[in-house]
Amino acid sequence: MFSNSSQVINFVKEKNIRFIDVRFSDLYGTMQHMTIPTNMLEDTLENGMMFDGSSIKGFTEVHESDMKLIPDPTAAFVDPFRKEPTLVLYSSIVDPFTNEPFSRDPRGVCQKAEAYLKSTGIADTCFLAPEPEFYLFDSIQYRADPHDTFVKIISDEASWTAGDYEEGHNLGDKIPFQQGYAPVSPMDKNADIRDAIVRALQETGFEIERAHHEVGSAGQQEINYTYSTLLHAADNLTVFKYIVKNKAIELGKTVTFMPKPLCGQAGSGMHCHVSLWKDGDPLFYGESGYGGLSDMARWFIGGVLRHAAAILPFTNPSINSYRRLVPGFEAPVNLVYSARNRSACLRIPITGTSPKAKRIEYRVPDPSANPYLAFPAILMAGLDGVRNRIEPADPIDKDLYELPPEEYRDIEKLPPSLDLALKALEEDNEFLTEGDVFTTDLLETWISQKRADEVQQLFIHPHPFEFEMYYNC
Ligand code: GLU
Ligand code: MG
Ligand code: MG
Repeated sequence: MFSNSSQVINFVKEKNIRFIDVRFSDLYGTMQHMTIPTNMLEDTLENGMMFDGSSIKGFTEVHESDMKLIPDPTAAFVDPFRKEPTLVLYSSIVDPFTNEPFSRDPRGVCQKAEAYLKSTGIADTCFLAPEPEFYLFDSIQYRADPHDTFVKIISDEASWTAGDYEEGHNLGDKIPFQQGYAPVSPMDKNADIRDAIVRALQETGFEIERAHHEVGSAGQQEINYTYSTLLHAADNLTVFKYIVKNKAIELGKTVTFMPKPLCGQAGSGMHCHVSLWKDGDPLFYGESGYGGLSDMARWFIGGVLRHAAAILPFTNPSINSYRRLVPGFEAPVNLVYSARNRSACLRIPITGTSPKAKRIEYRVPDPSANPYLAFPAILMAGLDGVRNRIEPADPIDKDLYELPPEEYRDIEKLPPSLDLALKALEEDNEFLTEGDVFTTDLLETWISQKRADEVQQLFIHPHPFEFEMYYNC
């Protein structure tokens, strides 16, 4: 939004901004904030702002808790939800004693990945466009503890399951099961809500390309916006989620970006469209290559496929992520690429003969990812492919589910759980530590905390479905 601090100061004066909301990402991608009145702006832009890192999930231990936020004028927006006029400024985090970047600051990882890309000489810019899908519900109630697990999701929009029938319940205007893409009203009940969200996004600076109902008939939605450079694509995604969730709340609804809220309905993915550029020229187009891809794009694919399992803990970091990565819902399970196939984990969108539009679509990620870690992880895997000229296995254009079982069996699959994905990362991470983009400290913290806080925790919780299966054992 701004290119330097004095532009921020002038804007604040001109627009009568009263508060500055200083934001940063915790290790897992949840944005955190602290608010200062505008009289503190100049000092904060110059000297940064101290905060207690020990209270932030995944950051420091108590004995080394002081951390410093350094606001970035290029990542700013006016908050449409605060009553007082408020400018949000995103920040990176440094150690206040050395002024060195804090190794567990996810935004810092993105910055280091951009610097590393330039240092390789392969390209100077990575453009990325994420396509986050989400569910819009009327309400959600949940309580989960070791003694009592209870979830109730309410969506008046859809017939709930195949063959849904309830006495006195009018199904006449409901979207048929899993057919939410994309009938008009009265079946689509969310068009006005999507319009309101789109308006709020546009007012915040997003260039919106389209909005539509998605396949999931219990309220799944998708709103697409334009691509950006790696760091700003990550910033934008966090702003996007903030606007979508808060606008939904304002309208009496609730939004979830969790990858698979409902068994049997489509999951929510976050496909990532990626391309490399140098000196203003696109590098992924090759007139005679398969799918119109250059050698570099093919090697990039080779790297992403080779390291797909290892980057899963960043692109698909929740236990719930793996409930989406199953056959039958347009989510990928097969480690192959294809110009046509939506069940492949890498697709080459049809872009005609325009070199500038040529890109790859990585379909594995989901919106529970911390984009500040997921986007650099994809880039680092691809760059490893380019540096080592990794050739991917031949593309497959047939419907993978139609293949004879013996052929299908031979296709490499994604690991089916977070536990196994963490193991893959443990065994294959050198390509991430190139240029110190991901530090060993960050990788070890990520792996150990995911295991302790999520894998082990869920392991000791009885699941409601277990009661159906075993209660009368
Ligand atoms: N919802 C699907 C997924 O989980 C993707 C549908 C689409 O192609 O947009 O990835
Ligand atoms: Mg979609
Ligand atoms: Mg897509």
